[in-house]
Amino acid sequence: MTDTLRKVIPLADMRYASRVPNVPARLSAPAGLLSDTLGRPLRDLRISVTDRCNFRCSYCMPSEVFDKDYAYLPQNSLLTFEEITRLAKIFVAHGVEKVRLTGGEPLLRKNLEVLIGQLARLQTPAGKPLDITLTTNGSLLARKAQQLKDAGLQRVTVSLDALDDAIFRRMNDVDFPVADVLAGIDAAHRAGLSPVKVNMVVKRGTNDCQIEPMARHFRHSGAVLRFIEYMDVGATNGWRMDEVLPSSQVIERLQAEFPLAAIDPNCSGETAERWRYLDSAGEIGVISSVTQAFCGQCNRARLSTEGKLFLCLFASQGHDLRALLRGNYADEQIAAAVGPIWQARSDRYSQVRAALPIDASPAGNNAKRVEMSYIGG
Ligand code: SF4
Repeated sequence: MTDTLRKVIPLADMRYASRVPNVPARLSAPAGLLSDTLGRPLRDLRISVTDRCNFRCSYCMPSEVFDKDYAYLPQNSLLTFEEITRLAKIFVAHGVEKVRLTGGEPLLRKNLEVLIGQLARLQTPAGKPLDITLTTNGSLLARKAQQLKDAGLQRVTVSLDALDDAIFRRMNDVDFPVADVLAGIDAAHRAGLSPVKVNMVVKRGTNDCQIEPMARHFRHSGAVLRFIEYMDVGATNGWRMDEVLPSSQVIERLQAEFPLAAIDPNCSGETAERWRYLDSAGEIGVISSVTQAFCGQCNRARLSTEGKLFLCLFASQGHDLRALLRGNYADEQIAAAVGPIWQARSDRYSQVRAALPIDASPAGNNAKRVEMSYIGG
């Protein structure tokens, strides 16, 4: 099969596989108490504000697929800031307390601080401000950190997969200096976007040699370094189980140099397992979707760049909320459509995968998974 064929067919189909939700005739006001079929509340909304990125991380946007011919979403198909804020308001009424802005690379979306300002004016039914955070590759953070903070952003998570420039390049396939990402992390600290979290995806045989250097670098820095197991997200990263380094081995390796103690999660649904250095040098975390699935508490919904609702990172079908927004449905009607979608949710991909033989994938879900760059990590 030629490269061109492999590049186009699977992805184009994938982005557009969705259905327009049913709007019930009888409307009931959201009560903020939605639970899915596994009793999981809706608390966390991840909003992808762009499908573009200036990096080509092999586990998310491999350059051989996301190349110069790749057809990104046209501008007019993206949700406007007003549409995003309208939907966020509806999800907050249903119980969402935390909004994470993602991408692609969210800082590539022009005037993002305007959206953050709009979201910062929303309040939960209990009158609390939203917890607004953002995940970025840090490439533009040094320039934007203070602006984002002033607009109402509270925290930031920066992806950094290595300290060594050559290994960093092997992970993200672009020529971008680690020093500039570190400068972005420093700027975030100075702006008060704390605690800054640093996410390192660990790919055995590519960057696992950087685990100890990264830990040494961020000890005593105030940043929380998290090691993420390499995941079979999307349909393009060529995932293999033998490239996964289980988090238990990461902790074992670090324990050999720095005594650690496990600590309790900050809140229900937290993806990271938390550890603290016994010498008070700070905290680290591990996110183990492959070897220690955490679907049991998963309270996350995801909104794609053009307004499709996905109920799991490994989903293969979305719910087209933009059609309702642009179909002149009122907020009450859209809220009444969203409720039953969450209530019918039964997703638990990582749990199902964990029960299967190595390298096997849950039935009927192999080639269809939505791309992480499209709905955010
Ligand atoms: S696999 Fe899906 S259900 Fe499980 S934790 Fe991840 S997003 Fe949630």
